[in-house]
Amino acid sequence: MATTTPARKKAPAKRGARSIVARAAKAARAAAKPKEPSAEEKWASYERALVITAHPDDAEFIAGGTMAKLAAMGIEVTLAVATSGDKGTRDINLRPQELAAIREAEQRAAANVLGLHQCVFLGYPDGFLAEGPELRGHIVRLIRQLRPDIIITWDGFRVGFNHTDHRVIGRVVRDALFPAAHDPHYYPEHRMRGIGPWRTAEALLAATSEPTLHIDIAPFLEQKVDAILCHTSQIDGTSRDDMLKRMRGRAKADPQRRKETGFDFAESFKRIEFRRPEGAPGTPPGRPAAAKRG
Ligand SMILES: [Zn+2]
Repeated sequence: MATTTPARKKAPAKRGARSIVARAAKAARAAAKPKEPSAEEKWASYERALVITAHPDDAEFIAGGTMAKLAAMGIEVTLAVATSGDKGTRDINLRPQELAAIREAEQRAAANVLGLHQCVFLGYPDGFLAEGPELRGHIVRLIRQLRPDIIITWDGFRVGFNHTDHRVIGRVVRDALFPAAHDPHYYPEHRMRGIGPWRTAEALLAATSEPTLHIDIAPFLEQKVDAILCHTSQIDGTSRDDMLKRMRGRAKADPQRRKETGFDFAESFKRIEFRRPEGAPGTPPGRPAAAKRG
């Protein structure tokens, strides 16, 4: 009995000492590890961005502040819209073709407000986007032609209700990005036209239920609102002041979101980074490979 007592007293002291040493070693390892650059720091090396949505006005609502930020950083931002929103009205006397023309003009005006480089309309019928080789091939060609460093689209996998076109475009863009756009045996007819494979460094999936990246858009909030208001056919006469007041009021009333994102006004995304191994088909020359994640 007596021999066990000192041993019992000694053991915790040893464990404590060991854990202090282990903690110090861990802290030293963490300090020696280079700090991951922030998203914005990484974006500073980018040249082109491609935003792909289903309808005119999607992009402004889900990523207007982020698009304005990318454009302000000098990145060339192209917005590709799969349909021209030809069913977005309750007015039975407004013909779909007329509405499509109105909405394309509204989208171009919004793109100007955000400082985007160009808008591309893919011309699919509103409400009928379908996953398949045709739409995927169209997106692959766009990626190979425009050679973006970053792509923003809908999260087509999010849980809960979402418009069918939002789901479809989100999934098709993801499948186009990996592996089709950079593996040359996918859509080999592009090669005959001189369009080579391309690797995009990252994708941001918007309106996601699993956000991993929050972007501070406070300096671009008014620009986002001005861009949304260009979509007159969809807005029901809301004024600029009302919309700003509503957004600021919502942010104020939701301290939990501020705590989660770290910002007063944020746009949130699920971020996927792709590797760009040096020398691989479609890797930009002289660019370091991006860190691999999903
Ligand atoms: Zn939409």
